[in-house]
Amino acid sequence: MLARALVTRLRGVVGADGVVDGPEALRVYECDGYTLERAAPELVVLPRTPSEVGAVLALLAAGGIPFVPRGAGTGLSGGTLPVAAPVMVCTSRMQAIEAIDVANRRIVVQAGVVNQWVTNAVRAHGLCYAPDPSSQPACTIGGNIAENSGGPHTLKYGVTTNHVLGLELALPSGELVALGGLVEERPGYDLVGLVVGAEGTFGIVTRATLRLVRAPEAYRTLLAVFESVDAASEAVSGIIAAGIVPAALEMMDRLIIRAVEAAYHVGLPTDAGAVLLVELDGPAVGVDPQGERVAAVCRASGVREVRVARDAGERAALWKCRKRAFGAVGRLAPNYCTQDGVVPRTRVPDILRRITAAAERHRIRIANVFHAGDGNIHPILLYDERDRDETARVLAAGREILEACVALGGSLTGEHGIGVEKIAQMPLLFGPDDLVAMTRLRGVFDPEGRANPHKIFPDAKMCVETRTPRRQAAM
Ligand SMILES: Cc1cc2nc3c(=O)[nH]c(=O)nc-3n(C[C@H](O)[C@H](O)[C@H](O)COP(=O)(O)OP(=O)(O)OC[C@H]3O[C@@H](n4cnc5c(N)ncnc54)[C@H](O)[C@@H]3O)c2cc1C
Repeated sequence: MLARALVTRLRGVVGADGVVDGPEALRVYECDGYTLERAAPELVVLPRTPSEVGAVLALLAAGGIPFVPRGAGTGLSGGTLPVAAPVMVCTSRMQAIEAIDVANRRIVVQAGVVNQWVTNAVRAHGLCYAPDPSSQPACTIGGNIAENSGGPHTLKYGVTTNHVLGLELALPSGELVALGGLVEERPGYDLVGLVVGAEGTFGIVTRATLRLVRAPEAYRTLLAVFESVDAASEAVSGIIAAGIVPAALEMMDRLIIRAVEAAYHVGLPTDAGAVLLVELDGPAVGVDPQGERVAAVCRASGVREVRVARDAGERAALWKCRKRAFGAVGRLAPNYCTQDGVVPRTRVPDILRRITAAAERHRIRIANVFHAGDGNIHPILLYDERDRDETARVLAAGREILEACVALGGSLTGEHGIGVEKIAQMPLLFGPDDLVAMTRLRGVFDPEGRANPHKIFPDAKMCVETRTPRRQAAM
């Protein structure tokens, strides 16, 4: 139980409206997009500025109190679940775009700025911020940095780490430190690279300097319709082997096509086995010839039909299907759990077969919508949380899918992070020495282990925590 004196001091820093402590209001913060486990914090603190974050963390440091950072709460691996951390520090009021430097193509934003707002702020200058998670209308830059988020267009442009030039980090002591800077290359250790993807275990990112890129002159967006997932996967390998690097190369299988079509009515072929959404961008003279080459590769893989978006409206409709696919999943089941694994691109057909086998073995339904060009799979495991047996089968199937990714030479996560969800699988990829080395590295930033404790790394205390009532799986 937090001391009343501390709560009063925190109110003094962030204002009376910057502290949430009522039981009903706290329920909003009991999970992020990973809903299998829930636990509300004792207190949520909403600072308005980087210096308020520093002051809040200094007060928590004085009491030795652990904390959980939170942005918009769209994370999919339970990174914001409070486990032995009574205070949540949420950046959602830190929304300032502090500087735009068009000539040098960079922008300085506070951590709570929503991803989509960055491109909105520079679009008139012909610029954009490349990492575009499908959650971009909601997720924050701080969350993107913590998870090293990707998106459909990161096949060509790279993930978040490729677009962060510098950042300010509030260490768990409350001290604000500036890492990186305003230019791409700097001597010394890549400390920005360390913080990107650290899932809030080094402290709280308060502001960031982001790299902007020139918005492409032209786009060609194609929808290739296949009878089977295998044929679509073959086309994915063929496109890359032909030396074409699409801006995006996304796949949807039959189950998700049907849900998306029922939700958005854009004319998707509901009898298809799979569709590929392929986007090419660049100089106007280049996109049509590239589009023809993509269509030729698809024909060689037995494509049934290739549709080309004729204007911006048709392109937007196709992207709506992809980016809002998760929003259509409610038509399939009351609950879903999105897995995030990686396999080498050539193993996509293998992992999809294993996903189908896992679904059959565990008697559950799994839909697939994913970044095929990156080999980054997102099986959506459907269930009803009121059915405890089905929930347990979903968890077992999810574990098997991740094990299969690793066995096929891949990884446990492409972009959603480890959070609490995949802690138990970390030893599949890392030996004890690796895990100890990473924990020591974390200790440089957070010697007392108070920043987002019990995330990423399997540890003995975690096993105890999972059995306490504070962290209950919603089953
Ligand atoms: C419909 C949907 C689609 C999605 N599509 C994609 C996608 O295409 N690509 C992708 O990569 N992800 C995707 N995601 C996952 C999610 O949106 C990303 O992980 C996103 O970056 C999380 O941002 P957030 O602000 O919501 O962070 P939160 O969920 O609030 O937090 C995520 C993690 O970051 C930490 N954190 C948050 N802010 C800070 C900070 N300022 N400093 C330090 N740590 C911090 C938290 O402690 C937590 O561990 C999707 C999610 C949904 C619901």
